[in-house]
Amino acid sequence: MVELGKKISTEMIKRVKTYCDQHKDKQVEFYCYDCRVTFCMSCYVVRHNNHKSCDIAEISAQFYQNVEEDVGRVIKITGECQKEAQYLEKIQTEFLSDVDAVKKRIKQDTDKLREFLDQQELKLLGDLVEIKKTNMERIKHRMHDVCQHISMLNNFKQYITEVREKATPADVSRIGCSLHDRANELHAIPYDVDFVLDTIHYESDDFAQKYQCTDQSKNLIGCVSVMPQLVEGTAHQNQGVNNGDEIPSSQLQANASSSAEVTEIKGKF
Ligand SMILES: [Zn+2]
Ligand SMILES: [Zn+2]
Repeated sequence: MVELGKKISTEMIKRVKTYCDQHKDKQVEFYCYDCRVTFCMSCYVVRHNNHKSCDIAEISAQFYQNVEEDVGRVIKITGECQKEAQYLEKIQTEFLSDVDAVKKRIKQDTDKLREFLDQQELKLLGDLVEIKKTNMERIKHRMHDVCQHISMLNNFKQYITEVREKATPADVSRIGCSLHDRANELHAIPYDVDFVLDTIHYESDDFAQKYQCTDQSKNLIGCVSVMPQLVEGTAHQNQGVNNGDEIPSSQLQANASSSAEVTEIKGKF
């Protein structure tokens, strides 16, 4: 008898007597391996005498021993699993740090290339501006000369019209020759019908053809890939693919150490 609410010790439980289901006044003494039941001496005589049976003290001792071993094994495997979890945390952190480092390098290289392209664009636009400037200067000078010519012609035309209308025969006789000479001078100013501006020629380097159309995988900046995971000359099997099958602890350790080697290789990269 135990007081209510008091904890019963394991030793006490082990000493508690159990009575037979069939014979309420008799203690259970045996276990039948064939029927997987416990029973008393009377039951043995009636039902189990031809079966494989044993004393319950014997089988319970075996049970307690098995439990001890199982608990020990569970503790060991739990420890290994915790080690594995810590290891996974560690390689996850390292991996994410690698991802960030590569991301940074891609960004740096892209910025460098962008800067280089900007310089190339500036150079081309600069060359174009020079050509434009030279041609604008040339056409401006020519336009100036032509406008001056038109102005002289207009002035002369107005002058000789007035002379024709208002001058006396004496005046005409006096200035006639010089007017005619001036008309000849004005006619002698040449028209430059061959005046042309430069023809701009832009030869494209066919950037798209070179870097995109020929090979879609080609990238100007670089390429991102994974290093082959070679472990002792064979391809490393991804242990995450197993379908919930229990992995023996020895194999877990082997995989853990081989993954560490791969991490080192990646680190060097
Ligand atoms: Zn019985
Ligand atoms: Zn039996």
